[in-house]
Amino acid sequence: MPLSPDPTTPLPAFAARATSIGGSPIRDILALTARPGVISFAGGLPAPELFDTEGLRAAYEAAFTESAGRALQYSTTEGAPELRAAVAARTTNRGLPTGPDDVLITTGSQQALSLLTTTLVEPGDTVLVENPTYLAALQGFGLAGARVIPVPCDEDGILPDALEELVRAHRPKLLYCIPTFQNPTGRTLPANRRAAVAETAARLGLWLVEDDPYGDLRFEGADVPWLAAHPGAEDRTALLGSFSKIMAPGLRLGWLRAPAALRRAAAVAKQAADLHTSTVDQLAAAHYLAQADLDAHIATVRTAYRTRRDALLAGLGTALPPGSSWNHPEGGMFVWARLPEGHDATALLKSAIARDVAFVPGAPFHTGTPDPRTLRLSFTTHTPQEITEGLRRLAAAA
Ligand code: PMP
Repeated sequence: MPLSPDPTTPLPAFAARATSIGGSPIRDILALTARPGVISFAGGLPAPELFDTEGLRAAYEAAFTESAGRALQYSTTEGAPELRAAVAARTTNRGLPTGPDDVLITTGSQQALSLLTTTLVEPGDTVLVENPTYLAALQGFGLAGARVIPVPCDEDGILPDALEELVRAHRPKLLYCIPTFQNPTGRTLPANRRAAVAETAARLGLWLVEDDPYGDLRFEGADVPWLAAHPGAEDRTALLGSFSKIMAPGLRLGWLRAPAALRRAAAVAKQAADLHTSTVDQLAAAHYLAQADLDAHIATVRTAYRTRRDALLAGLGTALPPGSSWNHPEGGMFVWARLPEGHDATALLKSAIARDVAFVPGAPFHTGTPDPRTLRLSFTTHTPQEITEGLRRLAAAA
């Protein structure tokens, strides 16, 4: 007779961490706004019509033609040498000298974040974050059992004095930040504050995780050097990059640039996570970088996004209730707005969805007490005409 478990014996419970954090409320909103006809400022998606489909098709073709056996085979955990070299060259060109060995290719920069968390964070460790910050980072730190403490921020981002006070009081393992065109706020941390953050980290002993998926999407103003490039940060910063916003997110290609010991530990964590990132996708990206002009493509994307950002900024004054405020990001994908006293973004979203327009309330991005008056608007996936129509609907909802 086959062995069957006693039907009265309950199954062992899920790990506490699996039930300690909820799913992303933003994914729930995205599901609601996926209906045809909805003009959504909610998603954080790049514009699909701008993908260089033909260039990527040719790059995949080249990866197969050169050696299908290699493209379809297992490969090394650190990543394809030609892709590591190309990422290192791009990083060096942007002002941070980097060799191929400094780079670990990851399955999206999201994986780099998760590998760093595995490598650095014990349950109960303190992690500092900007407030508000990227939701999937909060989920990752939550799953690791971290104590997440928000660093007070103003319209330019982290307040260095407040950071210093928190580091002294809580002895955190790391600071996670998105210094350029932050998600969700679109903010960019000025160079003098980056210098202060790097100096504090070096003096008080702190890892820095600099997440930069948006930095290439600058429409105006001058580039600000990476946090990783400031004195004091060199030996303690993990810089995360991604092809998601400049090539295509479906490739799931990102990277981690980190000091040797941290990078090696992250590579061991990656072996346990997925052995290595898809070989064929890495080789296609390497061919794309060798045979297409990624910078020309990025310039096209920037021009389109700039026009879309301008359409959003031009119409927000009539779309949001009088007394609302919002920022003017110099790049990236997001505008951050705040409704006047007495208003609530989640309530506004309900009437907005009824009028086929959507955005994301800012509350879930906060650690600690949320600000219910805030909201994030993404300007990337609609034409200026659609954006104007979306804002007309938003005005009706408000
Ligand atoms: N970090 C930030 C701040 C993001 O906004 C995102 C994606 N929205 C990611 C990391 C993950 O990007 P990917 O894994 O596609 O590289």
